[in-house]
Amino acid sequence: MRFASLGSGSSGNSLVIEARSTRVLLDCGFGLREVVKRIARLGLLAEQLSGILVTHEHDDHAGGVFRLANKYRIPVWLTHGTFTMSERYLPSQCNFQVNIIDSHEAFHIGDLHVHPFPVPHDAREPVQFVLGDGQHRLGVLTDTGTSTPHIESMLSKCDGLVLECNHDLDMLMKGPYTWPLKQRVSGRLGHLDNATSAGLLSRLDNSRLKHLLAAHLSAQNNLPHLARNALSTALGCEAEWIGIADQEQGFGWREF
Ligand SMILES: [Zn+2]
Ligand SMILES: [Zn+2]
Repeated sequence: MRFASLGSGSSGNSLVIEARSTRVLLDCGFGLREVVKRIARLGLLAEQLSGILVTHEHDDHAGGVFRLANKYRIPVWLTHGTFTMSERYLPSQCNFQVNIIDSHEAFHIGDLHVHPFPVPHDAREPVQFVLGDGQHRLGVLTDTGTSTPHIESMLSKCDGLVLECNHDLDMLMKGPYTWPLKQRVSGRLGHLDNATSAGLLSRLDNSRLKHLLAAHLSAQNNLPHLARNALSTALGCEAEWIGIADQEQGFGWREF
């Protein structure tokens, strides 16, 4: 099993997760040409995708999903709430299958087990995912304002984690955002800051953890070394061991 990022941040997010011959995209916040280019960077073609999972309707996650799905006839999996909120982006002629998922119910796409779980975020029915091949598990958590006991039980005993480190609270508060936007981002339906993400990490069972990537870093309100320092202190590891999913490059293949 292996995974990589096509880019992460407020201008677009997308992960690729592969188990044997199954390959899924988790979110697609990039335009058609851009995502095809980024997929090629990993040595893949869009035609090789088995499906697209969508976490929620915000543009940086769902903006490019339907165009990609329609062009290459790739089935899409999303909650009813996410579908309702993004229905207006559906093409008039729909060439792909839409699968509505329950935010608590696991399902399969080929060789991949997919376990969604709900998160507190200002969207209609947002979820995040744990994906596995029966041997290894990858946990993904971005776009959540707070942690919950259910989130922490889902992310425990993962072999890999992609964890939101959206902002440094101090940088956000002293930065250029308007007061309402600062409140939204740091609110309980907003995004995880470095310290909250580190606190969550320290409560997980990390005994199997081989890869840890910080994701969805704000270009205005965070710096890679601040995210790394917070997470490495929580884990008791070298800061450099922690990867960063950045906006332009994402990160290359990681393997279990
Ligand atoms: Zn986002
Ligand atoms: Zn969001």
